[in-house]
Amino acid sequence: MTATTPQTQTASGDDQDPLLEIDGLKTYYTDDSLVNSDPPVKAVDDISLDVIRGETLGLVGESGCGKTTLGRTLVGLESATSGSVTVDGTDVTELSGSELREWQRRVGMVFQDPQESLNDRQTVGEIVGEPLEAHEWKTPAEREERVNTLLDRVGLREEHFYRYPHQFSGGQRQRVGIARALALEPEFVILDEPVSALDVSVQARVINLLEELQAELGLTYLFIAHDLSLVRHIADRVAVMYLGNVLEVGPTERVFEEPANPYTQSLLSAIPGSSSPAPDDLDRITLRGTPPNPRHPPSGCPFSTRCPAKIPPAAYADLSGDAFEAIETFRDVLRDRVRGEGGLSKRLKRQLGLGAGGRSVEVIVTQLFADVELSPAASDVIDRATATADTDPTEALALLNEEFSSVCDRESPVEHDVDETGRTSRCLRHRSDYDDPGSDRL
Ligand code: SF4
Repeated sequence: MTATTPQTQTASGDDQDPLLEIDGLKTYYTDDSLVNSDPPVKAVDDISLDVIRGETLGLVGESGCGKTTLGRTLVGLESATSGSVTVDGTDVTELSGSELREWQRRVGMVFQDPQESLNDRQTVGEIVGEPLEAHEWKTPAEREERVNTLLDRVGLREEHFYRYPHQFSGGQRQRVGIARALALEPEFVILDEPVSALDVSVQARVINLLEELQAELGLTYLFIAHDLSLVRHIADRVAVMYLGNVLEVGPTERVFEEPANPYTQSLLSAIPGSSSPAPDDLDRITLRGTPPNPRHPPSGCPFSTRCPAKIPPAAYADLSGDAFEAIETFRDVLRDRVRGEGGLSKRLKRQLGLGAGGRSVEVIVTQLFADVELSPAASDVIDRATATADTDPTEALALLNEEFSSVCDRESPVEHDVDETGRTSRCLRHRSDYDDPGSDRL
């Protein structure tokens, strides 16, 4: 396994023609007010990824991981902070005016909620024809003919032209949204949770329609979804996002059969039921805590504050797995306290020695370490951190960070090839000096 640059290969290993080459893309949101000194929200944080012509690339990850922002940045609805998205030799993040409009003409977008994304005061004909009007596509008569062709193609009828969105079912409304997205004959379509607001039976029909249209029109899809079973069904390749980063990308079947990254393993393991797309031998993994605030992402690996496979600190190599887990949970408790300590009443309470609210850290520590054996050195650090945690959680956290810092807290993992299919994963455990993140060790 070696560090690599992003691959452009299919499951068979053949070189393919990338439609989009995303390189080091970052989309940060900054509050520009004079009084605000908060760091930016890192919604997309250094993503490099190719989208291959004619494929369906699935984009999965928890809510808020940056999937939608990535899609919107690709089409120019959000400004990239840095990095590039190269299409036919042009960086589309640099485009403006008519050149940007020309790129946007080549991209269609289908949104999650067909109820929200269609203007209820416009007829279906006006909605589908809107992009044609905006781009002054041919003559009015040709535009009308094009709208009727599109309605027919997505399974609606000519008489639907003069109806309003509220007169349609959810599935029909999404068909209107698809017809609108295809109006200008795009080559790339971003499908942002296109069926998650629909009933299951309707979902299947809309997915079938999308697959037919792709085959007929040679479309390239970016399919953003949280439904992993659906992604397994429709996507050729899948990219797994966490906190603005892509942690694993590869052919869908390979990723689902043998997830290589600890985050992918935990994401797949969380799907309950017999229809779960996770491998049978993958035990359920419950992640501690919640995803970090993208304004304050962890240093090192983005998954380091929750990863069940995190590499223990070299100086405490004798720690058992349970002891390391308890210490990591203690660090997480303190991170939460530090995050919430800015309020005036909490500051006052601390100054009066009343703690910052919630349960006393001493009680939490007693419970966390009740059945855990620690070396005298580790125990001493935990005692010292506990003694200051209620009044000064920042100092207590700094002590734990200094003593129990792992290589995962310090180094950001680069992409590694994980098999011969072009699949890559970002995890330090792929390096030869650490154990591989096999599912059996989580
Ligand atoms: S680098 Fe460390 S924290 Fe990140 S996924 Fe790998 S083991 Fe987990």
